[in-house]
Parts: sequence; C-alpha cells; structure tokens
Amino acid sequence: MINPNYKILIEYFSEKRRIVITTHRSPDGDALGSSVAIFEAFKNQGHEVCIIVPNSFPDYLNFIPNSNEVIIFDQDENKAIYEINKADTFFFLDFNDYCRIDLMESYILKNNGYKIMIDHHQSPSILANQVLSDTTICSTAELVYEFLNELDFNLSLNAAIALYTGIVTDSGSFKYNLVSSRTHLIISKLLSYNINHSEIHKNLYDNNSISRMKLLGRCLNSNFKIFQDFNTAIFYLTKKDLEDCEFKKGDTEGFVNMPLSLKGIVFSALFIEHLDGIKISFRSKSNFDVNKFSRNHFSGGGHKNAAGGKVDNISLEKTLEFFKTILDNYKNELNSST
Ligand code: 5GP
Ligand code: MN
Repeated sequence: MINPNYKILIEYFSEKRRIVITTHRSPDGDALGSSVAIFEAFKNQGHEVCIIVPNSFPDYLNFIPNSNEVIIFDQDENKAIYEINKADTFFFLDFNDYCRIDLMESYILKNNGYKIMIDHHQSPSILANQVLSDTTICSTAELVYEFLNELDFNLSLNAAIALYTGIVTDSGSFKYNLVSSRTHLIISKLLSYNINHSEIHKNLYDNNSISRMKLLGRCLNSNFKIFQDFNTAIFYLTKKDLEDCEFKKGDTEGFVNMPLSLKGIVFSALFIEHLDGIKISFRSKSNFDVNKFSRNHFSGGGHKNAAGGKVDNISLEKTLEFFKTILDNYKNELNSST
C-alpha cells in the first residue's frame, strides 16, 4: 500500500486549482464513479474541474450523475486538449500505466502539473506527485472514499451514488475475494446519504439491450470452447457476430464471468474481434494469476483474478490456437488450483 501525504495535499488545495480528472480507456463503473466523486467533491470546494476520458463509456452508465459533462477525448479532441493544456492538477483514477489513456498520454506529459494517482491495479508505472495505491482493495471507489475522508470533504448525494456504483461494479456485487469488512463499512456510510441503492442495481443490471441478449445467445449456443484438461472455458465473438447482433459498447460486460460458473472451471476468457484488433478479458477463481498470464502473453494486465489484454494484426482463429498452445505451459497450475 502507498499513501499520499495528506498534509501536503490539504495545503496544496488551499489554493484554487484547475483540475483535470482522467481514467482508463473504455471506462467502467469504477472508473467513471470514482471520477464523478472527485469531480463533485472538488467542484463543491470551488476548484475548476473537468473529467476527460480517452473514449466513450457504455450507455448503461449514463445514470451516474454528471456523466453527461464528461469530455470524450476521441470525440472532442480540441476541447480536451484545451482543458489539458490549461490544467495545473491531474487526477489519474483507476489506472497506473499511461498506455491505458491512449493519445491523451502525450498531451498530459507535456504539462508539468501536479499529478495525483489513486488506483488498485498491480505494478504501477506512473510517477505521480502523490499516490494512493492499494492492490488489496477491490475498487478504486473505496480508495476515493478514504481519500476524500482524509481531506475532510463532505460527500454530496451525487458523489455517494457514484462511489456506490464503483464499488458494486468492481466487487461483482460484493462477491469477489477482495471484498472486506471495510468495503461494507464504506457502503454503510454511503447508504446513510439516502441513496436509492435498489435503483442503482436496476440501472446497472436490469437494463439490458436486445443486442446484448443476442450476443449472449451466440456465446452460449456455439461460440464457446471448453478445455476440460486445463479447467478452462472460453467465449468468443467474431466481427460478424458483432455486426449481425448490432453490438454496442457495454453489451458484453460480464460475459467473461459466465464460464466460471461451470463446475471445475477455474480460468475463463472472452475474445472479441473488433475492427482494430482483438480485445481479451480474463477471469479466474482460486489461485490462477490472470494478471501474470495476460502480461506474459497478451500485452495486458489487471489483477490476479481479473485482467485484460489485446492482440493486433492476428486473426481470431490464430489467436485462439495460440491461446490453446500456451495453456499447455500452465497445465499444472490450472489443475492444482481447483
Ligand atoms: P476487463 O476484462 O473488464 O476489460 O478488465 C479487467 C481488468 O483488467 C480491469 O481491472 C482492467 O483495468 C484491466 N485491464 C483490461 N485491459 C487491460 C490492458 O489492456 N492492460 C492492462 N494493463 N490492464 C487491463
Ligand atoms: Mn477498478
């Protein structure tokens, strides 16, 4: 765990700052929820604040308060660059490696502003002025809660909704290993703001599109492989599947967890063939370390039980063959971790 120097931060924010908050590409509930909470807190203290994300986020996150104010870099580049250039302070939330913010990296690096990183991924590679990093916590939103608490900020209702969303989504609705009594204590504090938690769950999970249902149908009906000898199961979706089913961003959220519900399966993956390459999600239960697996073979990373990676310029078919080949190297690990 790395802690920031809160005394220095309190002093630093005693002056009005121009703050840019950013998070990783394809923002999820934790990324966006954490960003909105910091946005609300600092805006309410009179700072000039904006959120810029590398690319769009799924529609089902639109219910998060203020998400309509988020600047999307690849849709509004001029405005985003203008805001980055005039900022004196940056928050990096829910990522720890510049490769996760794509083209925004070069613009932010040209600015010598004060950098504050709050994150829960392994192996940080960004040198920020202040860092709050804990890889044993399941969401960045929990760290943001602690951070704002240490700075003695009062949470707004909107910030409480945003943080609740971040914690629910990154904890798999409170089921992952890293959920702790602290997680539930924070949730209890958030509920004391009278947030409508039931409505948040409905917004997140009872809001499916027909395209999502069709894509899930493809995965369950034909696009899966089970490697019984390796306790591994995968789903995949081709470009044609995405086109046929009218794929929209966010449609496949959570699919990768489904193969893990099969008895004996400890490792699952979802391969999606997008126009610009193949995006892969990995999940495991038990001890199998998918962060290491993804770093070693798929230019990715993440956490021990949830990671992502990508492949460029190789067909889906070849990628699946390659995956099968490397599984051989992990046979013992996969069999001993049931
Ligand atoms: P997902 O499968 O939901 O896209 O990602 C699972 C976890 O792995 C998330 O914590 C995410 O931040 C991380 N992750 C996903 N893709 C990448 C990647 O390309 N590089 C790295 N370093 N982490 C990733
Ligand atoms: Mn997260």
